[in-house]
Amino acid sequence: MTGVTTTKQPRQFQWHGLRVPYVALWSGEREQMAPMARMVGGEWGNERIGYTDELPADRRQETLWVRYSASPGSGTPNLALMHPLRQRRAMEHMLCQVCGRSTYDDGFRRWGDRHLFIRRDPENLPISDGELTTTPPVCEPCAIESARSCPHLRRGYTAALVEYAQPWGVSGFVYDAALKRDPAVTSIPYTDHRIRWVQARRDIATLHGCTPISLDDLATYESAGV
Ligand SMILES: [Zn+2]
Repeated sequence: MTGVTTTKQPRQFQWHGLRVPYVALWSGEREQMAPMARMVGGEWGNERIGYTDELPADRRQETLWVRYSASPGSGTPNLALMHPLRQRRAMEHMLCQVCGRSTYDDGFRRWGDRHLFIRRDPENLPISDGELTTTPPVCEPCAIESARSCPHLRRGYTAALVEYAQPWGVSGFVYDAALKRDPAVTSIPYTDHRIRWVQARRDIATLHGCTPISLDDLATYESAGV
């Protein structure tokens, strides 16, 4: 994970008075089907799946990614779904899932070089070290706004300051040698050979150095001066 990102800020959209998260999927954004093939490639010349008209952007390291049109603001947003490639981008660059800006920001420095992660959780179980997540971090202003206004978070959430998010793998559909797709979405670690046979739809990371925090305490944390 690097702090390098573009200075261009993503456009923000409103829906029924709520800000639509950067990672949310819009109804006008669709999967783009592409013909699959078995091929040999990569640094080690391993066999893997690919697209017959594959472009460099279709793959990250050994892993093939789903193709998706990107047109945020088109149609209606589905706040329960994430656009696969914006989710990946947010995880890779530690972008706020709501505003899409880098979370290597003032809050990050004030919290002792840590990112804020939140997950929906009516039972309020703490985020623990090594936990897998597909949910990108969130910046402080967006976290406070979301806790107040997001219908999902209002039913309960848990939050933690996290020292780092380690790339773990992806989730997606696994194909066999006959290019038959397993209908179940499966999580595959980078250490698993199936990482070359999955069409990825989510980036997964593990969270480390987790300290539970209440969003109500963020301001106090600020005054404590880390
Ligand atoms: Zn934000």
